[in-house]
Amino acid sequence: MAIISLGSMAFDAIETPFGKIDKIVGGSATYVAYAASHLAHPIQQISIIGNDFPDEELNELKKRGVDMSGVEIVKDQPSFFWSGKYHLDMNTRDTLITDLNVLANFDPKVPDNYQGAEFLMLGNLMPSLQLSVIEQLKTRPKLIVLDTMNFWMETAMEGLKKVLLKVDVLLINDSEARQLSGEYALVKCAKHILQMGPKFLIIKKGEHGALLFHEDHVFFAPALPLENVFDPTGAGDAFAGGFIGHLAHSDDISFENMKTAIIVGSAMASFCVEKFGPQKLKEISKEDINTRLEEFVHLVNFNISLV
Ligand code: AMP
Repeated sequence: MAIISLGSMAFDAIETPFGKIDKIVGGSATYVAYAASHLAHPIQQISIIGNDFPDEELNELKKRGVDMSGVEIVKDQPSFFWSGKYHLDMNTRDTLITDLNVLANFDPKVPDNYQGAEFLMLGNLMPSLQLSVIEQLKTRPKLIVLDTMNFWMETAMEGLKKVLLKVDVLLINDSEARQLSGEYALVKCAKHILQMGPKFLIIKKGEHGALLFHEDHVFFAPALPLENVFDPTGAGDAFAGGFIGHLAHSDDISFENMKTAIIVGSAMASFCVEKFGPQKLKEISKEDINTRLEEFVHLVNFNISLV
């Protein structure tokens, strides 16, 4: 099952309580591709990069079955640049710099060979570009998943509301769910957001796991308690890649299977945070992923007798 993945490919500068790195490859679509390519093929990337994006990174992604024909290369401009600083608890961060560079004039084009893909991952990007990709597809994919962030709620709320009407699954964190709905209690946030278009809502709560809402059902996936959390950047995108990668691999978009998918997403996110940038996602094997999934099973598996 093919997955089209739209998003940024970037350079990031990251500061965490454990270290600082001035320039590392990042971007929402980069993380999604590294995570999803462990599970499904092909990943059909749509993004834009400047003259500075490393060839080794493009080749590494290609080697993993990521089709780059939808990635535009602009010769005379730098790639998107984002810089963020994490607070001590690592659950919150401040965005220091967002330099759109090539993204400012991005007009994504869906290549002909991407038509017919069954899954669409709309990674964090301007809502108007997310909508443009949906509108270019001749056949609606089986499942459209959208990720977004507070930046777009502050600068493009109307566009975001428009694209939300066309997607199946929305992925956001808890503070963004509150911002989007104007509610505080997450159950109320979910009720409100599920009226805005998406049939499924995933609320990510960082080290406190993720909640999946659908109609009146709720499912909770924990985050693995980790000894070493170096850099949470990209965790949300790695989660998205794991989530959609599992659904595409199993070709099953039922609520029951989405429960497994958010555990797979949580596993990919848990790897992502263990090193700076997407490095750890490149290093892991199928065996590592399966071992980690077993850790999730042990974490929450218990027998209880009723009182
Ligand atoms: P996450 O930590 O999952 O929210 O994703 C972090 C990645 O998103 C970084 O690698 C950034 O390059 C990228 N990013 C940050 N802000 C934006 C934005 N406004 N649009 C697109 N990508 C962004």
